[in-house]
Amino acid sequence: KPIACIVIGMAGSGKTTFMQRLGAHVHEHTIPSYVINLDPAVNTVPYAANIDIRDTVNYKQVMKQYNLGPNGGILTSLNLFATRFDQVMTYIENKTDVEYIFVDTPGQIEIFTWSASGQVISESLASTFPTVIVYVIDTPRNTSPVTFMSNMLYACSILYKTRLPFVIVFNKIDVVRHDFATKWMQDYEAFNEALSSDQSYSSTLANSLSLSLDEFYRTISCVGVSAVTGEGINEFLSKIQLASQEYNEEYLAELSARK
Ligand code: GDP
Ligand code: MG
Repeated sequence: KPIACIVIGMAGSGKTTFMQRLGAHVHEHTIPSYVINLDPAVNTVPYAANIDIRDTVNYKQVMKQYNLGPNGGILTSLNLFATRFDQVMTYIENKTDVEYIFVDTPGQIEIFTWSASGQVISESLASTFPTVIVYVIDTPRNTSPVTFMSNMLYACSILYKTRLPFVIVFNKIDVVRHDFATKWMQDYEAFNEALSSDQSYSSTLANSLSLSLDEFYRTISCVGVSAVTGEGINEFLSKIQLASQEYNEEYLAELSARK
């Protein structure tokens, strides 16, 4: 069975560029894969998408027809697409030999992570395929300890919502290496030291929050990549393999326990 990777992250973190890099990688190494674009608002998709939401819904027309702004337009387009996602599922299930399914999501993260349609789509995938949430982080923009922690809290909330295995991708390491991030995640003291030099924030609050994050850090895996240079892609794919085992061992067990 193919592993489904749902790529999410803040706008501008590099999801689409990362998808493009993954597309190039699987093409080069002839790894049969399936690429899905769920962002209705992009003008051009820089990779070859097997399924593209824009082929089924016209975002601009949806905005006009329902008298919506940009975010409402994206959300409504995603809703319309979600109602037909069973067709997408049937289509992928009939493909043999596919190793990965990569899914690109709308630029604004909350449209996918906190909407009913995002939930429908990820739960459909997860009911059939080993599914992994890939959380892309803009490394150069997260070097401040407070920003870093907010981003991690957000990631943590998504983990607890979806319950799916989670891989954090520190992107843009061609600009800033992610060593500081792995250090902060492994070493609570080091993170607190960084925090205490940031006078602008309630350090007691941050302190206790970072303690709670410790548990989260132990359950996820992370990897540094550059979507632009391709560095870290092999390591990323091996983390995905491990995460899919975790899906088989934990998510499926929990799913059958709930039934
Ligand atoms: P998305 O909104 O998450 O889909 O982000 P995009 O893929 O559109 O990327 C946002 C910006 O970040 C673009 O200008 C990209 O060229 C840039 N970018 C993405 N990945 C990298 C990377 O690995 N290194 C560098 N230097 N820039 C990147
Ligand atoms: Mg994008």
